[in-house]
Amino acid sequence: MSETPYSYDAPASQALFDRAATVTPGGVNSPVRAFRAVGGTPRFMVSGTGPYLTDADGREYVDLVCSWGPMILGHAHPEVIAAVQDAVSRGTSFGTPGEGEVALAEEMVARIEPLEQVRLVSSGTEATMSAIRLARGFTRRTKVIKFAGCYHGHVDSLLAAAGSGVATFALPDTPGVTGAQAADTIVLPYNDLEAVHEAFHRHPGEIACVITEASPGNMGVVPPRPGFNQGLKDACSKNGALYISDEVMTGFRTSRAGWYGIDGVKPDLMTFGKVMGGGFPAAAFGGRADVMAHLAPAGPVYQAGTLSGNPVATAAGLAQLRLLDDAAYDKVDAVSARIQSLVTEALTKEGVAHRVQNASNMFSVFFTDREVRDYEDAKKQDSFRFTAFFHSLLADGVYLPPSSFESWFVSTAHDDQAVQRIADALPAAARAAAEATA
Ligand code: PLP
Repeated sequence: MSETPYSYDAPASQALFDRAATVTPGGVNSPVRAFRAVGGTPRFMVSGTGPYLTDADGREYVDLVCSWGPMILGHAHPEVIAAVQDAVSRGTSFGTPGEGEVALAEEMVARIEPLEQVRLVSSGTEATMSAIRLARGFTRRTKVIKFAGCYHGHVDSLLAAAGSGVATFALPDTPGVTGAQAADTIVLPYNDLEAVHEAFHRHPGEIACVITEASPGNMGVVPPRPGFNQGLKDACSKNGALYISDEVMTGFRTSRAGWYGIDGVKPDLMTFGKVMGGGFPAAAFGGRADVMAHLAPAGPVYQAGTLSGNPVATAAGLAQLRLLDDAAYDKVDAVSARIQSLVTEALTKEGVAHRVQNASNMFSVFFTDREVRDYEDAKKQDSFRFTAFFHSLLADGVYLPPSSFESWFVSTAHDDQAVQRIADALPAAARAAAEATA
């Protein structure tokens, strides 16, 4: 382990960070990357292979972020790279329809029964924003229910009490989102069906949709309690609202058919991103054909994108999805379970109060001894222990998400050697967590 607890000893990354800060706000293009919650120098990565990332100082890390989920086959998978090279050699964007986007949509629809039609976009934010617009256009209602701690991208109306970076920075409200934009958002505690019933009771005929992370990973991993998603679906059906399952994070990661493949609750609309793009900007929303028929040019609800269905992004996504068979998911699930038990073992040995929570192969560690069921519970953890744990692992070559409000991700490329490196680094990290003070 390095001498400095906060690992400022990354001169090449620090120099890049300084350069970046002069031309980019905060030196990064997405806030959590700046390491503000944990301190220290964000690592500027220059390459990735399999389960490893290499930074600008030439240090290698076992990657437990996997680009926040997409890299489920590890970095630079040869078949994905070959598909990308093949696509690139034929041109990078045409602004016309192409076969690649049809093939990707067919693969997605074949995997998920309630997904009758999809529209491709370029980010998860676009997907959720468009799904909400479509739900409002379809139902001719305005209000949206979301849950505290769930993150659906930086859509104006969905930033209220959001997880992920908003949670990391404890932003109560985001300046720039007007009262009017937020006024139609009803924020409820996660895993609380009573609150949902009460909201429908208070706003008869006004609620267009309920949007929820299929299984939240943006307040750390907090799975739905048994029956919660079904209860949401039933409440929506009963009250003429649409149930939108945000599978941007869980889609094609937690199983072949994402979280739907696990809980079987049929959403009216779903959103996707991350894994389906194979590391490129591709995302989607879709669901019931009768609802999707309201989307332009078939229907009146407008939605569009210059780079939607981009041939390189769709080639990468399709190559990745085709490699994700049952054996691949078994492998990711198994390596995730091994790492979860190594973490538990190391922290238990040092007497550190903690809970490892998982949703299939997504997992995170909360520094608390109580079950975390919602955002309020997640905020009660001893985050200072996470900071010490994070920096010890970083110094020993294991790259975790730089926030305790994020899921950890693994890939099929995390082999015995990568797991051993994590196992070797954990005892010191657990000790650092035990010794940490607020
Ligand atoms: N929805 C969920 C559940 C997410 O986890 C994210 C991003 O992490 C988004 C939406 C937004 O996706 P993007 O960052 O591609 O805009």
